Amino acid sequence: MPQGSAFVCPHCGKTNDTHDNMRSDAKPKHGDASLCIGCGQLSVFDLLENCLRLPSDSESREFDQDPQIRMFSIAWRAVVRKTRH
Ligand SMILES: [Zn+2]
Repeated sequence: MPQGSAFVCPHCGKTNDTHDNMRSDAKPKHGDASLCIGCGQLSVFDLLENCLRLPSDSESREFDQDPQIRMFSIAWRAVVRKTRH
């Protein structure tokens, strides 16, 4: 398995080689949520496949109820969407 491989957003295909782990400063853990800086959609770190995947329905509901994730999503909509990148 390549070291430092990049994660590709399953929504928009953007390669996110730097990512914010929403729950801590540590490396992303299996099942953690990732917010794409490109499209603002949530995906899930799958460290078994070493990729980002779409959240399941139950994960989506869980993310919707997570105040930290809601804050990130709101911040993304407020700031990032207004700029082209
Ligand atoms: Zn994306």
